[in-house]
Amino acid sequence: SSGSSENLDQSTLTFPASDEDNISVVIRVRPLNEKEVKASDDEVVQFPGNGQLLLEGNLVAQKPRLFSYHAVFGPGATQTDVLHFSGVERLLQLAVEGFSCTVFCYGQTGSGKTHTLTGPPGLFDRKPDPLDQNHGLVFSSFVFLFQLLSQRQDTHFVLKASFLEIYNEKVIDLLNPGSARKPLAVRWSKKSRGFFVENLFTVDCEQLDDLLAVLEEGMRNRSVGAHSMNDHSSRSHTILTVHITSEMSAEDGVFITKQGKINFVDLAGSEMTKKTHSEGKTLEEANNINKSLMVLGYCIASLSDSKKKGGHIPYRDSKLTKLLADSLAGNGVTLMIACVSPAKSNFTETLNTLRYAARAKKIRTKPVIVMDPREALILSLRREVNALQEENDTL
Ligand code: ADP
Ligand code: MG
Repeated sequence: SSGSSENLDQSTLTFPASDEDNISVVIRVRPLNEKEVKASDDEVVQFPGNGQLLLEGNLVAQKPRLFSYHAVFGPGATQTDVLHFSGVERLLQLAVEGFSCTVFCYGQTGSGKTHTLTGPPGLFDRKPDPLDQNHGLVFSSFVFLFQLLSQRQDTHFVLKASFLEIYNEKVIDLLNPGSARKPLAVRWSKKSRGFFVENLFTVDCEQLDDLLAVLEEGMRNRSVGAHSMNDHSSRSHTILTVHITSEMSAEDGVFITKQGKINFVDLAGSEMTKKTHSEGKTLEEANNINKSLMVLGYCIASLSDSKKKGGHIPYRDSKLTKLLADSLAGNGVTLMIACVSPAKSNFTETLNTLRYAARAKKIRTKPVIVMDPREALILSLRREVNALQEENDTL
């Protein structure tokens, strides 16, 4: 692929646009694939610029539709373009500062989710070349993350990583293939006020190579465990999480610890969400395979609907939304990369994805830094004491 792209829209990148705008939505349109080229499939997506994407009409839905996002990547965009212009670098900075961040790829099977996050199929079949230009966002994010940490000599960082898969509402540890036979439980932690996966393997990562080893190991286990690879990956979600604990000495020997994290989520194929709602079925009737994705859509829809604000959001209805609750519920910063095919034959799924992505853009959450509450209290007390002393001094 070429170095830079005429389809790349850089001018509109405004992430995060403001403190209230903590979900950023970008679109990536992959090139026509071999099959589509052979079938002389038409391209139905155009790039007017300014973060806009135009979907041409077809026989059924005749009028063209103009959508607007934070950024749009055309078929010519490289993996490096996506790293630099999706806003993921900003997200990594926020994770280092103590925010809960999530990057997720959404789209129909074959639209480029895995390609965007981890690269083309087979990349991890053998030890990947670090210089390979096909590496996805996860690999380049890890490299960028360690660059960030090396610039922060005043702070001590501890990194831990985990990699899991949710298949049929069962959580499998991709770093511990044995868990496929005995899926892990998702529990609520009173202490951290969040959901967590019990007995999930979390690897201490002191250097870049440790993080890369987690990625490689998980990717290998992901494909080994699958009977039919495509079928399996289209029905499962994976979450790779890097926990970043930072310890910085503040005033008077007090340490401030912050707990940031970044999740990289490769979602199941969006074509799995068949029109359950419009057919009047309830969430309970949906089968396990598409449940998480449906609930995620439902969560996003309720969040972006201001009338429902403060109302019930069904995080607890799926493993995926439980584990992403802190990002979606208002503590986090989220980047959604919606992947689509440019081909006419995929018109309906592309339209569905573009709509889902447009809805997500309306989520408003308020990000918070996760700080140890005891230390935060000590620090604020010290500040008060200092302020009083200063007041005293001026009397
Ligand atoms: P998904 O994970 O959404 O099912 P994949 O990422 O596996 O889809 O992509 C399907 C195929 O298309 C793969 O062979 C992948 O390498 C290729 N592909 C996807 N996006 C791109 C892209 N932007 N440039 C080149 N090839 C791509
Ligand atoms: Mg995939």
